Amino acid sequence: MKRYAVIGNPVGHSRSPFIHQHFAMQTGIALEYGRIQAAEENYADTVRGFFEQGGLGLNVTVPFKEAAWRMADRLSARARLAGAVNTLWMEDGLLHGCNTDGVGLVGDIERIGVGLRERRVLLLGAGGAARGVLAPLLETGCARLHIANRNPLRAGELRARMAKELPQHAARLTAGGLDELDARDGQWDAIINATSSSLGGGGLALPDGLYAPGALAYDMMYGALPTAFLQQARGQGATLLADGLGMLVGQAAASFVIWHGVQPEVAATLAALRQELHRAAPP
Ligand code: NDP
Repeated sequence: MKRYAVIGNPVGHSRSPFIHQHFAMQTGIALEYGRIQAAEENYADTVRGFFEQGGLGLNVTVPFKEAAWRMADRLSARARLAGAVNTLWMEDGLLHGCNTDGVGLVGDIERIGVGLRERRVLLLGAGGAARGVLAPLLETGCARLHIANRNPLRAGELRARMAKELPQHAARLTAGGLDELDARDGQWDAIINATSSSLGGGGLALPDGLYAPGALAYDMMYGALPTAFLQQARGQGATLLADGLGMLVGQAAASFVIWHGVQPEVAATLAALRQELHRAAPP
């Protein structure tokens, strides 16, 4: 049996086993997909041990994405730009790493029916999740991408790093503080929350008037719906609201393609996962 797993700490809550087993059922591929909880000090040994014992692929989650990036012998362009890896596999005896978070996000936004080309996009947050999605967002051809973070220095550093790596996109990429956001600087067609504020159940103190007519509010957090961010967005005029469950399934689908060379159907698995979460914790 082909063996795969997600590695993280904590990892008990991870929905990756459900998602990959659903993809496997759809595509008729026989596989085992487990969860591995590793400690910081034995993370690298655990990864090596998994592959030495015949494991074929790992998804990597918090807090090991940067460690996986450092450990990989070969990085995809996306992983190199993101500075983080969420997908590992062995090829020709070398450990390969990719980052599929951004593809998952952009694919989910397309699935919702929103095109970002020539649109103004506001990305809230400058942590690991924001870093992973920046390059794929720029590649959509958006007119402007602004990173706003609680700590503005971190947003500026991220912008500077990306502008150096992708100079062709630098003019469209700006950065600043969350508390510097002002509707007088223009409205946004999509506002993406990549902060972890929703994890604590709190919203963000965004000024009124940021959402353009027909705008999308996207919260990368998933599970507890509606999040405080999405509730606030609805009150501030956002037309389309989405949580990050579709991104989660989308990044898993991109990992599945890397490992198996087969594209699973994201929408079917997303519907099944949403039903499963609803069954486990009805609103
Ligand atoms: P990090 O810890 O790397 O970054 C956290 C970010 O949130 C920082 O920018 C931080 O700002 C900001 N932040 C935290 N609390 C607040 C607050 N109260 N107000 C304003 N800003 C705040 O986390 P990640 O980037 O890894 O994760 C961010 C979110 O994305 C999480 O909710 C996570 O669940 C989600 N996620 C979803 C995925 C999906 O597939 N749907 C994939 C990956 C992540 P500062 O720099 O100022 O501290």
